[in-house]
Amino acid sequence: MNTENKISIKGMRIRTLNLLMISISCLLYILLIVASFRALDRYQSMISDTNDYITYEKDALLLAEGSNYLTEQARLFTVTTDIRHADNYFTEIHTTKRRRKTLKQLESEGNVHKNYNLLKTALEDSYELVEREVYSIKLVALAKGYDMTAYEEIEQAELSDEDLSLSPEEMIEKAHQNIFGTDYQEFKKQIMDNISAFMDAIIDETRQKQQNSASRLKMSISGQQILISILFIENILIFVLIIRLIIKPLQIYVKNIRDEKRLEITGSYEFKYLALTYNNIFEINAANETMLRHQAEHDPLTGIMNRGAFDQLKEIFRVKLEPLALLIIDVDKFKLVNDGYGHEMGDKVLKKVAELLEESFRSTDFPARIGGDEFAVILTNVTPELKSMIENKINILNEKLMHPDDGLPEISLSVGAAFSECGFSGNLYKQADIALYHVKEHGRCGCSFYEGEDDV
Ligand code: GH3
Ligand code: MG
Repeated sequence: MNTENKISIKGMRIRTLNLLMISISCLLYILLIVASFRALDRYQSMISDTNDYITYEKDALLLAEGSNYLTEQARLFTVTTDIRHADNYFTEIHTTKRRRKTLKQLESEGNVHKNYNLLKTALEDSYELVEREVYSIKLVALAKGYDMTAYEEIEQAELSDEDLSLSPEEMIEKAHQNIFGTDYQEFKKQIMDNISAFMDAIIDETRQKQQNSASRLKMSISGQQILISILFIENILIFVLIIRLIIKPLQIYVKNIRDEKRLEITGSYEFKYLALTYNNIFEINAANETMLRHQAEHDPLTGIMNRGAFDQLKEIFRVKLEPLALLIIDVDKFKLVNDGYGHEMGDKVLKKVAELLEESFRSTDFPARIGGDEFAVILTNVTPELKSMIENKINILNEKLMHPDDGLPEISLSVGAAFSECGFSGNLYKQADIALYHVKEHGRCGCSFYEGEDDV
């Protein structure tokens, strides 16, 4: 392939396309993987927000439940003076310890919520309430003569002298007032308000966090959807390009090669390059073939049909059953031309004879050089009625050759002719040759027709 073709080829190379598609696909897949990890991360952060909320809510509930239970048992004890309520009270403080669990949570480092101070205040207030409740329980225990030395808190609570001087009924009354009075109620309300405030804060915060996480998760999922759509479009594009740049050209090329046609310049750079190279070789081959065929069929000196082609033509006309005439033409005393003017001049004369034969007959007739100075013409679709027309043509030819205006030597032709009604019959050549011999014998320069052995 020459440089000109290389420059003129424009088109995408398969290698470039391949590289481009692989790079885009890899990039898209990496982005997709990153997006899916981010979505997972956001989903996990939503779960962890929910778990945090559950933990905080549990703490607050434990505190509220613990505090309410203590209040309830202390009140029941002062009202019913049933010792079992006092026992329940201290069981909660020493064994169940719901409030202490909250305290533990509060104290554990690294898990301290920014609103835990509300819970802490509530817990501290709750301790203060416990002191009041224990005081009241001790008053009732004294009034009722219960032995409560087992409870450390009771032992530690010191009753005022004023309260110690009260009668048992007054002591119970005092205990009653202590934990049912407005003071106590307000304290209790303060604790519950702090717990509610903590709950409100964590609900708000969790809602906010979950909204953020949900919107980020939504964004990640949307990102994934976009990436998947782009991948889908990219795949379609790859299919279209493969069909246009590779499959379609291949199909066209296979068909063209089968039909022995030039290739269409289409598809990728490589296919265009192949087509141009193939077309160049195709053209060279075609030219060579034409040249070889011409060489095989034509006489190199005169350019008209040679003996070999003439013999083939004879075979064709043997089966082509149409009326025809065969002329055998021989240059008269040609040796003299060669001898007198030289071989080159002889060649020129032969060329001139060939040209005149081609000019004089129709395009449907076939002139050929069948020997040194011997020519033949097959006249197609010709019957003996046209004898005079043929004779006339030969006479004109001889006129021209005998009165040359081109500086070539004067010559004449002897022509023997024979007709066949039905293709190139077996003895047609011989008959024309007999007619030619007749002309040669009778002074040359003329035309004779084979009419049968006797007439020639
Ligand atoms: P006649 O009238 O009986 O045909 O006499 P003639 O001299 O033409 O005799 P003939 O046809 O036998 O001679 C043909 C001559 O043609 C013999 C040969 O030297 C010459 N010749 C054959 N081929 C060529 C050729 O290619 N070029 C040239 N210049 N001469 C050729
Ligand atoms: Mg001759």
